[in-house]
Amino acid sequence: MKNRVGRIIIGILALLFLGFYTYRQEQIHWHSDDVASWGPATGLHPEGFQADTVITAPQETPVQMSYSTETPDLPAVEPTEEPVPAEPEVSPTLQLARDNAAALGLPAPPDVDVESWEMMLANPWHPIETYQPPQMGYLNMTLSETDIQTNYNPNRCAVDLRIADQLFAFAQGCKDAGLPVYLSSGYRSYDEQSYLFQRKIGQGYAEDVAATIVARPGTSEHQTGLACDITDYYRETKDSSLEQTPTYQWLRDNCADYGFVVRYPADKSGSADSVTGIIYEPWHFRYVGVEAAHYMTDNNLCLEEFLALYGVE
Ligand SMILES: [Zn+2]
Repeated sequence: MKNRVGRIIIGILALLFLGFYTYRQEQIHWHSDDVASWGPATGLHPEGFQADTVITAPQETPVQMSYSTETPDLPAVEPTEEPVPAEPEVSPTLQLARDNAAALGLPAPPDVDVESWEMMLANPWHPIETYQPPQMGYLNMTLSETDIQTNYNPNRCAVDLRIADQLFAFAQGCKDAGLPVYLSSGYRSYDEQSYLFQRKIGQGYAEDVAATIVARPGTSEHQTGLACDITDYYRETKDSSLEQTPTYQWLRDNCADYGFVVRYPADKSGSADSVTGIIYEPWHFRYVGVEAAHYMTDNNLCLEEFLALYGVE
């Protein structure tokens, strides 16, 4: 009998304990983060539960599937706004030329590279030593043959190959105008110039005077291969009276269109201390490129004066 009562009491105690334990577990759950994964509870709210403090589960980011081999690269979308044009970069040399030209009342000079071969300067103050053009071109002197040869041909007029086409077009333009034209002398080597200079001294000229007529070796523009003496075919004598020929007048009036200038104009030449240091030569044409040629011709500048704008002294 006693045993039975004892078992009932133990059973009741066990039930009470089980009930209390279950209640405690419920409370722990409601206050833990685990609630998030269960969502807001409905009913059985523990004491102090506030519906508006519900914690929501973080949204999982959907996995992006990649199909890189199937998706073509799309071109970048251009901005629709008009880009503001940047101020063109002006080199210090060009800025100097602009300032110098403005000070002289001249228009803005062209953006030329004064270090380029087209601007090569050879005069008594700028010797080019034994310089040789990289490749020669040989033109028929009366243009009766129109090809430009690259193998040495002493019976033709030699110039730097880079100006051969322009020189031919220039002379052909004169010929097409019905005027007799002759490519009298192009490239001269250092040795040829040396021979001509010594021959002039042998004729009795003082060295300084001879140098104004025949450039000292290493200072002749003919050695650059960028110059050519062009005359009337029937009047090759090179003196100032050549300016009376229609051939010269056509060449003078049209040379800039082909990139050439009258290199030693009368008002820049004549004595050893003149701008060019060379006598007036209405037959000597020099290639400088079309842009520079027009600027020099339009503004009555010889090559020395043109280059001085850019700081080449
Ligand atoms: Zn010449």
